[in-house]
Amino acid sequence: GPHADLISSHIRDVPDFPEPGILFKDITGLLVDPEGFRAVIDALAHAVPADVDLVAGMEARGFILGAALAAHLGKGFVPIRKAGKLPPPTHAVTYDLEYGQACLELREGTVRPGVGVLLVDDVLATGGTAAAAAQLVEAVGARVVGLAFLLELTALDGRSRLAGREVSSILATA
Ligand code: IMP
Repeated sequence: GPHADLISSHIRDVPDFPEPGILFKDITGLLVDPEGFRAVIDALAHAVPADVDLVAGMEARGFILGAALAAHLGKGFVPIRKAGKLPPPTHAVTYDLEYGQACLELREGTVRPGVGVLLVDDVLATGGTAAAAAQLVEAVGARVVGLAFLLELTALDGRSRLAGREVSSILATA
């Protein structure tokens, strides 16, 4: 897109965070920059499928981008949270990480059956988080009409976990 250089110039590589051997992509410098933040939301909005009724964001940076996008589109926003943060009743899905397991939750009654949901997160890495979030939305009878990311780490091939789904990313890097 036209703003790809502006956006990528504000993303910082942090070696060995949060663990040795991990190269962390830090987007905080992008969010604090007014033109950068607007460029991201504009770019996400540009790729939104026509049948989106609701935006859902994955904790935590998916909240920031997803909520801003939802407001920009005039849609509602739903948080998909890590275990134990939402008051009951919730739906939950447990998924495998490289080491151990994680759990995502969705507040029961917030996403109605049949609704078209766009999932938003900052980074697509292995795709485990996004696949679990999609499973959660579908478990309540809603439709995942798309998944939108700021940055896709192509070497981890997250798209293979999202096969058959409508996936878009503003930037891609190995
Ligand atoms: P995945 O489940 O392996 O695709 O990891 C994606 C999740 O981890 C997303 O919620 C991201 O916010 C987070 N994540 C993974 N790698 C990075 C990174 O380099 N920077 C920021 N967030 C990351």
